[in-house]
Amino acid sequence: NKQVILKHYTKGFPEESDLMIATALDTMELKVKPGSSAILVKNLFLSCDPYMGTFMREPDSGSSEVAVETLPLLDAFLPGKPIAGVGVSEVIDSDDPGFAKGDFVWGIVGWEEYSTVNSFGRFRIDVNIDVPLSYYTGILSVTGLTAYAGFFEICSPKKGETVFVSAAAGAVGHLVGQFAKLMGCYVVGSAGSKQKVDLLLDKFGFDDAFNYKEEPDLNAALKRCLPQGIDIYFENVGGKMLDSVLMNMNVHGRIAVCGMISQYHIESKEGIQNLPVVIYKRIKMQGFLALDFVDRFPKFLDYVVPYLNERKLVYIEDIVEGLENGPAALFRLFQGQNIGKQVIKIA
Ligand code: NDP
Repeated sequence: NKQVILKHYTKGFPEESDLMIATALDTMELKVKPGSSAILVKNLFLSCDPYMGTFMREPDSGSSEVAVETLPLLDAFLPGKPIAGVGVSEVIDSDDPGFAKGDFVWGIVGWEEYSTVNSFGRFRIDVNIDVPLSYYTGILSVTGLTAYAGFFEICSPKKGETVFVSAAAGAVGHLVGQFAKLMGCYVVGSAGSKQKVDLLLDKFGFDDAFNYKEEPDLNAALKRCLPQGIDIYFENVGGKMLDSVLMNMNVHGRIAVCGMISQYHIESKEGIQNLPVVIYKRIKMQGFLALDFVDRFPKFLDYVVPYLNERKLVYIEDIVEGLENGPAALFRLFQGQNIGKQVIKIA
């Protein structure tokens, strides 16, 4: 059973070399123990997510932005053990009456070829929905729910409002932008390369976009693209971008704090200078976790699947093949190499 193992807890910026590939030598019987209520799955696709970098740190080191205890479905990563995340799998054997051999499921699995798991937080995939199975690592699982709940539930958007999305060519970002366009908003995105900016404009239907790496004056870039100000900011990056956005928010604006990837791995976080504008502009700023909205999942599928079927949503995946390339795939997120959802295909 090939696995991606955390070598040791990390400090500061994690590196690909903090992970290693190993093969568990115990010959694994491809069966579950009778009476265990467990499910044995063969993992097919794995999702790469930015929070996983922070899970590589010692949980009580005080520097982890993601407090593991607040994420009920996730266990801390342990040195010497496989790391884990959202995956799509096929059931090979089951002692759980709710799942049968041959079912396809998604949920948290180890980064390994085969996992023994339980049914908690495991979703059966409806094979009648005509989409690639890999979509259940992203648009039809946590990534999609994050974009949907963050935009509709936290931002309370109205037709005609202005929306700004950072990391807009990433997995969550390119969906938020398109949901906002479908809602009738004016949508601007930022991303870290010309290729990504071109995609935002030409493929995902954003009204305007800029490359934040080539515009040192973010405030000027925002003023140029959004002279009418920002009603809704979908926050994925934090730091200097948040500070500049605050100066461009409209009165009664909303900020959904989905993620702050620029801050996850730096020891001293960037101070935000412009926070007082939240007061006189009466801005609502709210952090959220997709997991808070699991009960909305059926409603979310009713919303998103028709758009996918009618080709009204473009969903881009960046698929790396082979579990042995898993560490490199994960670190593409921190180097901005991924376009759309970063996925690993392992079988
Ligand atoms: P993405 O696919 O957007 O990948 C991450 C992207 O972030 C990179 O491609 C890169 O794009 C950008 N990035 C990386 N480093 C920096 C940096 N230092 N400064 C600015 N941008 C950077 O990942 P996801 O869509 O999976 O996640 C997006 C955000 O949403 C993350 O912050 C993540 O933690 C958060 N998240 C939150 C969830 C929740 O429940 N609250 C659930 C899922 C995700 P570029 O080339 O544009 O720099």
